[in-house]
Amino acid sequence: MKTESRSALLRPELERIRPYHVPVSDGMLKLDAMENPYGWPAECLDEWVKVLREAKPNRYPDPASRALKQSLRKADRIPDSAELLLGNGSDEVIQILLMALRPGSVVLAPEPTFVMYRQIAESLGLSFVGVPLESDRFCLDLSATLSAIEHHNPALIFLAYPNNPTGNLFPRAKIDAVLSAAPGLVVVDEAYAPFAGDSYMDSLRENPRLLVMRTLSKLGLAGLRLGYLSGAPHWLSEFEKLRLPYNIGCLTQLTAGFALDHPDMLQAQVNAIVSERERVMTELGAIHGVTLYDSAANFVLIRLPFGQATSVFEGLKAAGILIKNLHPQGGLLTECLRITIGTPDENARLLSEFRRLTG
Ligand SMILES: *Cc1c(COP(=O)(O)O)cnc(C)c1O
Repeated sequence: MKTESRSALLRPELERIRPYHVPVSDGMLKLDAMENPYGWPAECLDEWVKVLREAKPNRYPDPASRALKQSLRKADRIPDSAELLLGNGSDEVIQILLMALRPGSVVLAPEPTFVMYRQIAESLGLSFVGVPLESDRFCLDLSATLSAIEHHNPALIFLAYPNNPTGNLFPRAKIDAVLSAAPGLVVVDEAYAPFAGDSYMDSLRENPRLLVMRTLSKLGLAGLRLGYLSGAPHWLSEFEKLRLPYNIGCLTQLTAGFALDHPDMLQAQVNAIVSERERVMTELGAIHGVTLYDSAANFVLIRLPFGQATSVFEGLKAAGILIKNLHPQGGLLTECLRITIGTPDENARLLSEFRRLTG
């Protein structure tokens, strides 16, 4: 078949979509993807392997992930009145949510934000409206958001709390104003909840159009792929119809349940990451020319003087350290870099190379 005939068969959206690019990172210090840098202690690994011996890979997994849902409810204090939908990462939850919308629907989010909202919306032929954040500190621009809501009547609004790649929590008063004005659903994406110290989980009780999305990826289980949505059963029962029955494999169900049932280990890792975040921010902020932004996540966003972001990014890469260069995205992210918090040794290495390159 000739390649020209692709456009006769495939969705027109595919011609405009660029594949999601993940850089090769073999042998590098990975500070680019908000992973937890810590592994599990040996005793814990032994216990985990014992749990995995109970797995039955010859059988289909529990399609309702009942045991895992109980562990999630307990670990994340999900209100009893809320229902849960599990996805193979929150990326899949986003896909399920957007597949449920009527064709022609508008999806709205502030920008810059998590790129998969736009990517998945456009791949499904939906319209995506991005409302620019305020240019000085990346705060939600409430008046622009409210006029965009009025103008575009979005079926669904995404608010990442805290936001990626900027790291900040939007003020609750602004989010509450968006919740009141929204004509449709509002998804508060709490991917960084373990590091944030605040959550909309309790607000699910009062607000039937609010949905809270979480993932275990940033907590320390990025390789497993588990994300979830919580919200009113009225909505979740419809989304559930689009979930493929066995999307959460038996190894993920057992491993995630095991990890959630050992909250102390994960909490100790989170505490270490949060205290390192404060140290890294203090040290980066003291470097001449670095503009530092607030972070309630496990990464920090910085801006460098004109012309420096890409050269510092390349210099770090040559030294074996991978961070995220946001400069190519342009706009508000011009000259911006995003650095994931690692272990104390990893952060020390990053800071010393960073000083060498900017000094
Ligand atoms: C990382 C991230 C996700 C995706 O998480 P997965 O569960 O790994 O798919 C979702 N939302 C935000 C804001 C993120 O930063």
